[in-house]
Amino acid sequence: MDFSLTDDQIAFGQTAKQFALKELKPNAAEWDRNSHFPVDVIKKSGELGFLGLYANPEYDGLGLPRLDSAIVFEELAWGDTSVASYMSIHNMVTWMVGEFGSDALCQKYMPNMVSGEWLGSYCLTEPNAGSDAGSLRTKADKQGDYYLLTGEKTFISGAGATDVLVVMARTGASGPKGVSAFVVDAQSDGIEYGKNEHKMGWKAQPTRTISFKDVKVPAVNLLGVEGQGFQIAMKGLDGGRINIGICAVGTAQAALETATNYVKERSQFGSPIATLQSVQFKLADMLTQTVAARQMLYLAANKVDKKDPQASVYCAMAKRLSTDLCFDVANEALQLHGGYGYLNEYPLERHVRDLRVHQILEGTNEIMRVIISRQLLQEDGLNQLR
Ligand SMILES: Cc1cc2nc3c(=O)[nH]c(=O)nc-3n(C[C@H](O)[C@H](O)[C@H](O)COP(=O)(O)OP(=O)(O)OC[C@H]3O[C@@H](n4cnc5c(N)ncnc54)[C@H](O)[C@@H]3O)c2cc1C
Repeated sequence: MDFSLTDDQIAFGQTAKQFALKELKPNAAEWDRNSHFPVDVIKKSGELGFLGLYANPEYDGLGLPRLDSAIVFEELAWGDTSVASYMSIHNMVTWMVGEFGSDALCQKYMPNMVSGEWLGSYCLTEPNAGSDAGSLRTKADKQGDYYLLTGEKTFISGAGATDVLVVMARTGASGPKGVSAFVVDAQSDGIEYGKNEHKMGWKAQPTRTISFKDVKVPAVNLLGVEGQGFQIAMKGLDGGRINIGICAVGTAQAALETATNYVKERSQFGSPIATLQSVQFKLADMLTQTVAARQMLYLAANKVDKKDPQASVYCAMAKRLSTDLCFDVANEALQLHGGYGYLNEYPLERHVRDLRVHQILEGTNEIMRVIISRQLLQEDGLNQLR
């Protein structure tokens, strides 16, 4: 077992850090303040391969292991949590198309998605199907060589600014086995977008509802086979959960760096607050939590890369742990700034606002516990999860 990064992994991280330093970090506060979705900057990252990090290399993706991709996402999120998290969702969608699309579908969509010419959204959640996504009601009726799509999706990241939607819709009986996944052109007739939601964080990317009314989707746009859609959606989320977790780590790292510098400069009672042992201990715990979160995510990424049968459970454990720990790190970094942490002159309040949603989306942390406990209570479950 070797915990050190390879030269390639270090180089990927450095390239991402340079991009974050130049393109993301200097603009993050303004994009947050103005709810600006920086499509031009996101597209620019496509030139570095950041929009198809682990996507199928047969269709222009970099085909990197999940662990290497995680190293890149961490550095991007260090620069801007909201933008990096959207990029991680685009990567998830691009991977799904490249993995489960027919050759013709991949030829059409993948080069454009990997380059950033076309951005993607992942459309699973519905107003009445959140945690219980398998009960979704959006319907896809087959009519010869196309499907008619009708229904509503909610909380869709990037919606309104993206070009390609991967939509999970019902083609069969109730329950997860009746769900199929489709690639849908975002400007198709019959699609309407709701308002950009006013959110606590993740303001540098839009979130909208999407309604579909008799939207014609070519039958060849089906991913995999009919009835496989829920499985495809969950496979996408295994990687997605690593990405959302590691974006939390990148943000926690940024918050920890800011706090470490601040406590050395801020003096009260005649000396820098860094001389107080309670402050030192707080920083020590914050660093420990950040490192623990990162290592747990690397382990989960390695399980996905190795196609370990328990990979999904490790992804759930890593997502739950990392997003809880990293939210706490950002919140403690704010506390160490006293009242200044509460002002938007400093990045801490943005970090806290941005990280809150990581505990909610791509499966809430309660649902992560459902996945973990279901497996550990299986016969011999504990042994399989050592
Ligand atoms: C900013 C943002 C962006 C998003 N982006 C996307 C996107 O791009 N695509 C997409 O498809 N979705 C997206 N989502 C949706 C997100 O995945 C859902 O909000 C999430 O899965 C929870 O669903 P819900 O909001 O309906 O909550 P509910 O499912 O109604 O849950 C409410 C509460 O009940 C708890 N709960 C529910 N069931 C159980 C259970 N069995 N055991 C214990 N507790 C339970 C939950 O943990 C939660 O605390 C986004 C959400 C947000 C806020």
